Amino acid sequence: MSTQARGGPVQQTSSTFIGMPAFPEAAREALDNTQQRKNLRHATHTIRDKRAAVVDELPEWEALRVAGADAKDEALTHLADYLEQLEESLVAQGATVHWARDAVEANRIALEIARAKEVDEVVKVKSMATQEIELNEALEEAGVHAWETDLAELIVQLGHDRPSHILVPAIHRNRNEIREIFLREMAKVGRPAPDDLTQDPARLAEAARLHLREKFLRARVGISGANFAIADTGTLVVVESEGNGRMCLTLPETLISVVGIEKVLPTWDDLAPMMQLLPRSSTGERMNPYTTMWTGAHDGDGPQDVHVILLDNGRSHVLADTVGREALRCIRCSACLNVCPVYERTGGHAYGSVYPGPIGAVLNPQLRGTSSAVDQSLPYASSLCGACFDACPVRINIPELLVELRGRVTEEGHAAESAAMKAAAWVLSDPKRLAGAQRASSLVGRVVGDRTIRSLPGLGAWTSARDVPTPPTESFRQWWARERGDDR
Ligand code: SF4
Repeated sequence: MSTQARGGPVQQTSSTFIGMPAFPEAAREALDNTQQRKNLRHATHTIRDKRAAVVDELPEWEALRVAGADAKDEALTHLADYLEQLEESLVAQGATVHWARDAVEANRIALEIARAKEVDEVVKVKSMATQEIELNEALEEAGVHAWETDLAELIVQLGHDRPSHILVPAIHRNRNEIREIFLREMAKVGRPAPDDLTQDPARLAEAARLHLREKFLRARVGISGANFAIADTGTLVVVESEGNGRMCLTLPETLISVVGIEKVLPTWDDLAPMMQLLPRSSTGERMNPYTTMWTGAHDGDGPQDVHVILLDNGRSHVLADTVGREALRCIRCSACLNVCPVYERTGGHAYGSVYPGPIGAVLNPQLRGTSSAVDQSLPYASSLCGACFDACPVRINIPELLVELRGRVTEEGHAAESAAMKAAAWVLSDPKRLAGAQRASSLVGRVVGDRTIRSLPGLGAWTSARDVPTPPTESFRQWWARERGDDR
């Protein structure tokens, strides 16, 4: 992997998750939360089953995956050219394009636009890029309130919580918890929830709709991300389920779109496989309910002042890495989260980022560098079972990237893993040492019996996150000698 992405931070670490311990500790805490585990298991299995059913309907699924991966690879291989083409197309269509190297620049640009419009509030459609750069917090600090309008994001915002899933940021909450949040918090920031609110999903959705409606009708500035940005036409695409995104994209006079540079697709044709791959992989639907596309500004139709902020924030470092760049193909569908046995038990907060699950485990250490304990621990947050690769619609080989990153982190001195590997190499390089270690291990096995070993002295970092299997009471060689004498 490229040295550029190694070591110190290449991106501003999200302060939303500052103070979060490294994955093993965060995961242990999450595992104690039985209600959350129950909520997650129910939600991920429901989406997983729906996805499997609709994917099975398409005999050409594998060909679609290849087409999706090829389109992203073409864009990433010639990214500078396609970004310039995208800028030209957007400007020709009346949009203003801004380039942001990092979170600070992107937030400053968005704030300057909001100030120029003299607004003290904006409405937002769900956008991972703006969560990544902590745009809400930056606006809030400057006195501009950002209202999330995606239902799940609204729940997270009202609950003073953090997102824990790419597609369903409030997946760790159940209906009753959501009802309590609405009753307690809505009145503080706008239209209150009705007193007789129940936990019926339709009633909860209605309360959110009414609460948001007055914000939509009032707001003069909208903020969005984009799922795709098409270079040859300058079209931005948002794919969503509720229609709230479409309100944000069409009602305000001014629209600010914060778009990661890896979202670019070369041509309109490249969108076709994506529109099949994304909804099936994310929500298990054949087609998503709302797809909004906007191309610059047009008289009398939608926002009249359109700004597009093209965001790097560590992406060019990932791109420079010939192995790791594969992670930039990600279309944020969340299929890898829903099939991951580790995510299912720990939830998303343990990953310490807005990008949780298997893709977060490879993307965060690359985007942010591996200088922090959180980012050093993430490549180990996987059983390497391979389910994420099988589910990924753009064929990102996440297990392979995780192994690559583990090697890198160990080389850089991940203390526990490095010490364990050095000790293993020393023992395995000499048959006498190996025989001695096997005798010692058998003795431990006889002493411990059936009990589980939860921690070992000197291997605190390793055993704090893993139970150690009880050693067998005899080695294979001992068993062979006992059963077959010296018959080798
Ligand atoms: S890595 Fe693949 S499966 Fe996971 S969110 Fe990205 S596109 Fe979806």
